Amino acid sequence: MSNKIKKGMKVYTLGTGGGPIVSSSRAGISTAICVDDATYIIDCGMGSIRNYRSHSSWSDLRSIFITHHHSDHIYDLGSYLFTGWQVPGESFSRPIEVYGPGKPPRVPALNEQHYAEVACRTKDHAMIGTAEMVEGLIKNVFASDIAIRIADEGRSDPREWIKAHDIVIPDEAKADPVTARHPKMEPFEIYRDEHVIVSTILVDHRLCYPAFGYRIDSRYGSVVVSGDTAYSENCIRLAKDADILLHEVIDLDAILETFPEGDTREGIAVHLKESHTSYEDVGKVAEKAGVKKLVLHHIVPNVPDIADTDKMIRVASLDFSGEVHAAEDNDCFEVIRESASKVVEEDLVF
Ligand SMILES: [Zn+2]
Repeated sequence: MSNKIKKGMKVYTLGTGGGPIVSSSRAGISTAICVDDATYIIDCGMGSIRNYRSHSSWSDLRSIFITHHHSDHIYDLGSYLFTGWQVPGESFSRPIEVYGPGKPPRVPALNEQHYAEVACRTKDHAMIGTAEMVEGLIKNVFASDIAIRIADEGRSDPREWIKAHDIVIPDEAKADPVTARHPKMEPFEIYRDEHVIVSTILVDHRLCYPAFGYRIDSRYGSVVVSGDTAYSENCIRLAKDADILLHEVIDLDAILETFPEGDTREGIAVHLKESHTSYEDVGKVAEKAGVKKLVLHHIVPNVPDIADTDKMIRVASLDFSGEVHAAEDNDCFEVIRESASKVVEEDLVF
């Protein structure tokens, strides 16, 4: 990174692959949004951290937003949190704020009858919230490393540098992990600093609850990340008139062709179909939201030479009048200042 003054709002696609697989073609899903000299990360997919350092520094990192707790969105969370912990020249300059799903009040299920069944099968696997997950990294996964480095190198407690928060869903949404996993609601603000306002909304990721999409508004414009979701009216509300919508996408037939027969093939096929957005529908989301640019990421299948991204762009463009791109790792999309909405200029206090 050069030392020149950084100005503007840029999106770097650190990882563009979807799903919990190791792929030689794309890193796991992660997006960096840089506003002047501040950087915000959405999701921490496998291998993305290596790309982060090509575009930003640990001293610029402000916050990390986790859309949901599927492994492919959090594999590198520990890497992001502990590589910038007081390494000379490679350190956070302020505490890093981590936001993500809280612990659901009960295990998610399709309906009450299904709940009774899954509550039994998952009784030894309690879900946790983001704050507890981060504390688990500090207290358990990296406990020995942390103790050694405090003793050996004179570092301070990483809790001084990492602040994790569970997102509290407003009561009026009446959300429930069984009966209302993505109720009709309005976006709500969760974070604000001198550069951005971040708001969120529940999206439809089947039994993965809570699952959030995020919107980042700055003086330059607005960027929305769908998170993992089926076609979602909430996502459309979140993305209303945004400059850039980064939306997940799946080619179901193509991914199913890569699956051999096996015990979990049918269950995973249902999950893929009902919790993701087909390339045949994603253009409709962008058009209905009225965004200026659609960027496809979290591309499934994440298998080299299997995803036909030209086809995805072509089909999405049939329904969407704006620009469509299929992101590769390390692409950069800039939000142009003129497109900043008046409302944002009035709302943001800098
Ligand atoms: Zn997911």
